[in-house]
Amino acid sequence: MAEHAVVIAGGGPTGMMLAAELTLAGTDVVIVERRATLELESSRSRGLHSRTIEVLDQRGVVDRFLAEGKTAQVQAFAGVPMDISDFPTRHNYGMALLQSHFERILAGWLDELGVPILREREVTGFTQDDSGVDVALSDGTSLRAKFLVGCDGGRSVVRKAAGIDFAGWDPTTCWIIAEVEMEEMPEFGLRGGGGIGPAEEGLVGVTLIEPEVNRTDEPTLEDLRAALIRVDGTDHGAHSPRFITRFTDMTRQAVAYRSGRVLVAGDAAHVHAPMGGQGLNIGVQDAVNLGWKLAQVVSGTSPVSLLDTYQAERHPVGARVLRNTMAQRALGATEDRSVALRDTVMELLRMDEPRKHIAGMIAGLDIAYDLGEGHPLLGRRMPDLDLVTVDGPLRVFTLLHGAKPVLLNLGEPGGFDITPWADRVQLIDAKHVGMWELPVIGAVTAPAAVLIRPDGYVAWVGDGTETGLRDALTTWFGTP
Ligand SMILES: Cc1cc2nc3c(=O)[nH]c(=O)nc-3n(C[C@H](O)[C@H](O)[C@H](O)COP(=O)(O)OP(=O)(O)OC[C@H]3O[C@@H](n4cnc5c(N)ncnc54)[C@H](O)[C@@H]3O)c2cc1C
Repeated sequence: MAEHAVVIAGGGPTGMMLAAELTLAGTDVVIVERRATLELESSRSRGLHSRTIEVLDQRGVVDRFLAEGKTAQVQAFAGVPMDISDFPTRHNYGMALLQSHFERILAGWLDELGVPILREREVTGFTQDDSGVDVALSDGTSLRAKFLVGCDGGRSVVRKAAGIDFAGWDPTTCWIIAEVEMEEMPEFGLRGGGGIGPAEEGLVGVTLIEPEVNRTDEPTLEDLRAALIRVDGTDHGAHSPRFITRFTDMTRQAVAYRSGRVLVAGDAAHVHAPMGGQGLNIGVQDAVNLGWKLAQVVSGTSPVSLLDTYQAERHPVGARVLRNTMAQRALGATEDRSVALRDTVMELLRMDEPRKHIAGMIAGLDIAYDLGEGHPLLGRRMPDLDLVTVDGPLRVFTLLHGAKPVLLNLGEPGGFDITPWADRVQLIDAKHVGMWELPVIGAVTAPAAVLIRPDGYVAWVGDGTETGLRDALTTWFGTP
């Protein structure tokens, strides 16, 4: 039986990002993926939000995505656009980039990293014991691993086999979504609880509400034509679909993100309506939160309890997205009272503070992990500041390319001795001239030092002394 430290079920956005993170941390990982190729059955995510773009920048690969995507002010809440160009980040925008292109570019990076992918195979189940997990595959073989991570989407076999409850709300609405050729070009725009717009290669993208919520049959061209006739009175001569599928606003979240040696991430851990375009983004960020922690547990650097912080930090982020997508669904209803409510919310979103609050949430820039009381930076994303070091100018994110933690000393050079952690934590003496400003909350006092985790979140803030530093190093990066 082949052995790996970690087996990832599912090579979608979450599984691929997790594999990259584990590989950067030196962990032996393999992805098991059902699809034979990178081709997707349907178009899904249309782009990336600011924090995901930052996360890719932290790993030094953002330029490949920026080269193919189109940056724009794409943030919206219940269809109300929100500009974030005044946010203090180098990526004060979103990026339009179809999921198929995102996955292709990510897969190219995985190739370079040498991540093995076993394609045309499914994980069908597992059994776990004290030392590892036996993972059963659809070709009759099995793999042995220290940990199994289910990144296998909303219908996750791994989550179900682990007996993890997927609590939440049944769907209230079903949409038919397709890309087709049309004899006559329809007017592009919103209608029918969705809209019609241009797709790649001259096709027309259609997303429209269906009258029945719980249809289980495969959608057909006839269903699509009927949906078009309902809103436009004509099917526009729709033919030759590239795909036709359905999605709903089912809203559910795994009650636990870990059961022993088995974890879930991405859609396997949370599903919700696509309003605001957040699902892929939070899946990728789940992976970046989990990757370094799992690598440290596998290598014995940290105890298994470090994995509890994955759930403690990421479950609330997922729950918040579930809540905001449900709110957007309610605001999008066409009933008079919902329209009145939406108009009222629109008025609020034109004001600075509410706009920043909601836009910061959708963009993922406001995440604050609960790491206790302290400086506002504690638990928040480290800004990508311009630094000056003895080796010259440097951006903070450049220090995170290798996914290794950083103790950034902005005070007296040579002021810290972290010899016992020197193999795990980079110590950088640097200066920064200028403001410290965070999205949504604004300017904060400049710290004397910060301990930055591999995922770019601040684990400790120095006030000119070393108070709490050893504890923070031990908590996050193991005993001396
Ligand atoms: C219409 C629509 C529009 C959307 N728009 C956006 C958007 O604009 N922005 C956004 O951020 N998100 C959007 N999303 C959500 C986004 O597509 C998902 O959140 C994202 O794909 C989740 O990534 P994942 O890797 O967790 O899961 P998936 O993308 O579902 O990947 C799971 C992978 O696992 C494989 N797999 C499944 N079961 C097994 C198994 N047993 N063994 C091995 N492999 C398996 C699958 O083949 C797949 O490759 C949209 C979704 C829909 C439906």
